[in-house]
Amino acid sequence: MALFRIAKKGHYDFINITQKVKEIVEKSKIKDGVALIFVKGTTAALTIMEYEEGIMEDIKEVLEKMAPENADYKHHLKWGDRNGAAHIKSALIGPDLVVPIEEGKLQLGQWQEIVLIDFDEKEREREIVVKIIKNE
Ligand code: ZN
Repeated sequence: MALFRIAKKGHYDFINITQKVKEIVEKSKIKDGVALIFVKGTTAALTIMEYEEGIMEDIKEVLEKMAPENADYKHHLKWGDRNGAAHIKSALIGPDLVVPIEEGKLQLGQWQEIVLIDFDEKEREREIVVKIIKNE
């Protein structure tokens, strides 16, 4: 298992972690298997997307329609924080990805990047776990 940390600003911070994951796959020397990528925490998510400004704005717009950051959520009554919208987006997109590995390489399409999206209301550090599972 490999783990790395990155500092995040929150409020729709899109971070491309593809290179990090590729390095972990190369180090593992595993030729055939899968990479499981997982972010710890309930206000961030992992997805695969084209890493391009326009689509980032589009995703932000769609998600803001579903769960606006400045709306009131029942969750705010529980802890006194203001990140109810972040929890909803994190749950909808999910914390994990599985990417196949063939001949020692992640099988991503030309425009597919592994992207962490941080939705939280404050800056924080995120822990990402990468587990390489060998196909026997
Ligand atoms: Zn919360």
